[in-house]
Amino acid sequence: MFKYFTRHRYYCPVCLSKNIDFKPLPAMYAQNAEKYGYKYFGKSEMTTLDTYSCLKCGASDRERLYALYLENNFKGDESFILYHFSPEKRLQHYIIKRFNNIQYKTFDLKANDVDIKADITNLNMISENECDFFICSHVIEHVEDDIKAIKELYRILKPGGKGILMAPISLAINKTIENLPDVKTDEDRWKYYGQNDHVRLYAKNDFINRIKASGFKLNMFDERYYGKKMYKKLGLKKTSVLYVVEK
Ligand SMILES: [Zn+2]
Repeated sequence: MFKYFTRHRYYCPVCLSKNIDFKPLPAMYAQNAEKYGYKYFGKSEMTTLDTYSCLKCGASDRERLYALYLENNFKGDESFILYHFSPEKRLQHYIIKRFNNIQYKTFDLKANDVDIKADITNLNMISENECDFFICSHVIEHVEDDIKAIKELYRILKPGGKGILMAPISLAINKTIENLPDVKTDEDRWKYYGQNDHVRLYAKNDFINRIKASGFKLNMFDERYYGKKMYKKLGLKKTSVLYVVEK
């Protein structure tokens, strides 16, 4: 009986469900880490193993953190331009429902169900200083030239504009793992970067330095900022940090 004692205690700011359960990270990740010898499984800054996705809407831990930020920082009736790169479906749904007056566009290189197919290192369809806010989460770890991508995000943002810029960060390494000449196959990428379609694994300092070197100011919101109670309620890993860049 007691093993059910802690169930049904979470809140999902994406679908607004209260007292619900969250599902663990799909077992496939642990299995592949074991199978291919990925050393840093479970040591990422953000990804929680036990409370990964909302049972009701499927929103991941990071989508819940982004929804919390949007909820706290926008009233819902403002008019602004929001661009969403490789949009997370549940978060996209939340944004469309929640914000009535925004000009919202989605971008992706491969997916068909977005407004614009675009390579994040060459956003020539977007003018300089065009958008007020962007969300670019778990994109740049897939991109060979991540610096170029960050610079494009800087270029398209209005002065004073902000963006959520996130990538998987390993707290177990001090230097980003990337450009390994022998890493060529899916199996290799599982082993060194933790996923078959990633091209690097960020160390925290490198991630921060690349953002700052591209001209952005960086705001970091963590458990101290939101409070332990809120982090617990949203099922977030204690070490999770929300990176909000600003031009
Ligand atoms: Zn949900």
